[in-house]
Amino acid sequence: MAEAKQFKAESKRLLDMMINSIYTHKEIFLRELISNASDAIDKLYFKSLTDDGVGLKKDDFQIYIEADKDNGVLKITDNGIGMTAEELENNLGTIANSGSLAFKNENGGADDIDIIGQFGVGFYSAFMVAKEVEVRSKAYGSDKAYLWKSSGVDGYTIEECEKDSVGTEITLTLKDDTDDENYSDYLMQWKLKSLVKKYSDYIRFPIKMEMEHDHLKEGTGTDDIPPEYETHTAVETLNSMVPLWRKNKSEITDEEYNKFYREKFYDYNEPLAHIHAKAEGTATYDALLYIPSQAPMDYYTKEYEKGLQLFSSGVLIMDKCGDLLPDHFSFVKGLADSQDLSLNISREMLQHDRQLKLIAKSLERTVKNELKKMLTNEREKYEKFWKAFGLQIKFGVYNGYGANKELLKDLLMFHSSFEKKLVTLDEYVSRMKEDQKYIYYAAGESVAQIDCLPQTEVIKDKGYEILYLTESVDEFAVQMLMNYEEKQFKSVSASDLDIETPEEKEETKKLAEDSKDMFSCIKEALGDKVREVRLSERLKTHPCCLTNEGQISLDMEKTFASMPGNEHNVKAEKVLEINPNHDIFKTLQKLNETDKNKLAAYGKILYAQALLIEGMPVEDPLALSELLCDLMTDKQ
Ligand code: ADP
Repeated sequence: MAEAKQFKAESKRLLDMMINSIYTHKEIFLRELISNASDAIDKLYFKSLTDDGVGLKKDDFQIYIEADKDNGVLKITDNGIGMTAEELENNLGTIANSGSLAFKNENGGADDIDIIGQFGVGFYSAFMVAKEVEVRSKAYGSDKAYLWKSSGVDGYTIEECEKDSVGTEITLTLKDDTDDENYSDYLMQWKLKSLVKKYSDYIRFPIKMEMEHDHLKEGTGTDDIPPEYETHTAVETLNSMVPLWRKNKSEITDEEYNKFYREKFYDYNEPLAHIHAKAEGTATYDALLYIPSQAPMDYYTKEYEKGLQLFSSGVLIMDKCGDLLPDHFSFVKGLADSQDLSLNISREMLQHDRQLKLIAKSLERTVKNELKKMLTNEREKYEKFWKAFGLQIKFGVYNGYGANKELLKDLLMFHSSFEKKLVTLDEYVSRMKEDQKYIYYAAGESVAQIDCLPQTEVIKDKGYEILYLTESVDEFAVQMLMNYEEKQFKSVSASDLDIETPEEKEETKKLAEDSKDMFSCIKEALGDKVREVRLSERLKTHPCCLTNEGQISLDMEKTFASMPGNEHNVKAEKVLEINPNHDIFKTLQKLNETDKNKLAAYGKILYAQALLIEGMPVEDPLALSELLCDLMTDKQ
């Protein structure tokens, strides 16, 4: 009878913790055991390269899964390096004592030994699903085999046993099903296959299992004979072994890339582009990234969760690693695989995220370059991208106080007065007129609405291009950018439009001086609805328009008004501008001499008109209606 041993004290506590809390998903026990088996095979394979005594070729190595439904037993067998009694004691008797790490150190820390488990607790995850675990193992070079057995916290026994071949066989007697947990699912072939596919698809040795399939019995299922089925069993390899991303780009067709995307990320549509990146140096990784062709339904909601799949040497560590993607590229789907990650005990959290940060930075640059390339070489495709995710890029420019604006500014596109289609800032600047100082923009609801804005008249007349900003975030993004290629952005509604020639300026100044009295009468009538009433330098044919002083534009006011909880009631500081070349100006001048009351009434109407042209509601429609009727019936 084998002597029962206690787990070392600290192990007891750790084991308890492990079983109850470290892992969020019990199902990962299979990944851990398979990773251990793969490590053990790696070690023996490594030896076989220099030691003919091993007697196994690469193709001989395998991991075998067997489920015995009747007895509730799951078995995982490998023909790897195995463990001696001492190793069983040391590796499985003390949690956090990783034999893999010791092996790597003994072999000079050679980088070609690609070992997944370096921390030393994965094995114990078996106790999340098993009430008893047996490890039968025969170490390479030893003629004895040993059985390690434990039912959890109480301790373990080690005794000699029978085992012919070198390797390890792990037998889990699964816990009984409860209301919350169906442990017996881990005996179902569909479940096991899907877990292998999910977590261990790229383990480099075959993971095999006997699978049952129903086949139509020969001679049945014809017109006369009803179909009968018979069950066939066959051993299948469950994992695909070579990760697509580890292959050479030249060996992969576009169809393969796209198929992988559709299957892995559940998208019916082909991706717009794929990026297969291989990096060595400060950050060593392989990555396969995709830009979807459409935004997912929940993309612009809080429900959307960004992230890439994170693999460590072909083993899935995390399904959605958010840290790998900056928010402005949150639409990217894909995965990154690196050998350099230091994993902590649960493989679910990353102990040091320095490496992860380096990878994320490098991926960010890669995505940016790919998008830039698409913009230059495949304009139509890029516009499709822009339609789906342009909004996110614009948010990216604005968010974080513009921290990413330099990275993103070349990716921006806006509609323009020139061609009514999307242009980049680079295109805008490269065709600016010689005497043009600013990049002009106008904000509004739609291209058609902005195109009619009175404020755009003089600028268009000068032959200058105007960017049409149709989404609420646009103006915030542009203000955050401040300038592009040293050209300042300027709103067509800015108080300091600075578009007149010196002579024109002089003339306006004089006329403004002469009209002071008239403007202050209108201002008085409007009260604090406007900050000022003044002469306009930007109008040609329209009688009046609204502009703003300060940072908050009229369009921003509209945006704030539509936001929930706008208790601060953010408002633009409005200025009513009147066109001195319009006939109404002469009428106002005359009224200023003859009928101040009417002048005030006209001022109110002009203000209401300007609001309506801006797409803003008049503040008191009833009062306006009365005023108009009074004028029509000559009461004013
Ligand atoms: P880790 O795999 O992170 O090192 P584990 O707790 O999973 O930690 O395993 C502890 C050690 O036990 C491993 O490092 C390895 O030396 C040994 N071991 C576990 N499973 C096997 C196996 N199937 N074959 C050989 N050795 C194994």
